[in-house]
Amino acid sequence: MSVTAVTRPTVGVVKLASCDGCQLTLLDLEDELLAIGERFDLIEFPEATSRRSEGPYDVLLVEGSVSTPEQAEQIVELREKAKLLVTIGACATAGGIQAMRNWANEPEWRASVYPQPEMIESLATSTPISDHVYVDAELRGCPIDGRQLVELLTALRLGRRPQLPDEAVCLECKRLGRICVVVADGTPCLGPVTQTGCGALCPGYDRGCYACFGPREDANVASLGAWYGQDRLFAGFTAWAPPFREPAGRAARELDPGGTSVTTTAPDEERTDA
Ligand code: SF4
Ligand code: SF4
Ligand code: SF4
Repeated sequence: MSVTAVTRPTVGVVKLASCDGCQLTLLDLEDELLAIGERFDLIEFPEATSRRSEGPYDVLLVEGSVSTPEQAEQIVELREKAKLLVTIGACATAGGIQAMRNWANEPEWRASVYPQPEMIESLATSTPISDHVYVDAELRGCPIDGRQLVELLTALRLGRRPQLPDEAVCLECKRLGRICVVVADGTPCLGPVTQTGCGALCPGYDRGCYACFGPREDANVASLGAWYGQDRLFAGFTAWAPPFREPAGRAARELDPGGTSVTTTAPDEERTDA
């Protein structure tokens, strides 16, 4: 994964169903932003500039989940225009908090929120980008971590593999000398099954981790879930991530027994691999 052959690689930053918070992480890189601008040509970034381009892009950062029929078509077109496609944030990598509707009766939910639900075109599910097209790399979190974004862009320019940790939040938490909220006061914390990268932020504020970075590889979710005995802990920003999907689904159906029993995302054969 590299764009080193290009003098100043072109970059696009686009969004689907999302809150823009992950794009703001790029704008918040006050110390690095000018250097990024010198090394990359930001040709499409509606959040930041009126300069527009329909591509092609050497690197495309995609925020947000696929939540409408239009977005399902849009992501296939974007994939065709991008040499490297990187998904950023819990919405793009796991479906986001909006994926809670994947277990709900979507028309009923829509009607309870919008006075004219017939004006809203949405899919019954919110799904991650990787369910639809091939993804070259992903940055987790809600929002993503600025240090990881800088590491990814640096690696792209140097033509090396990005050094993104895949260990549990607990390891970073211990290294930083945080007091364990589970041990100290019995607060449930998903740090043992969550991929790190945030600097163990929540335990630093005496809160349990709620897994916004999503599951780490080989996470023993069933064991931790049985220990806490609370399925709803997994029904958050990354509820639709496969390891969390089962307990999150149980929690969702408990709240909305009339919801759907959807258990799968778009089949792989529908995916457009670049
Ligand atoms: S992952 Fe979080 S911060 Fe990023 S777009 Fe989605 S809701 Fe916003
Ligand atoms: S507070 Fe959470 S992340 Fe930190 S050590 Fe305890 S369980 Fe792990
Ligand atoms: S501690 Fe957990 S919930 Fe908090 S920012 Fe880190 S990954 Fe997200």
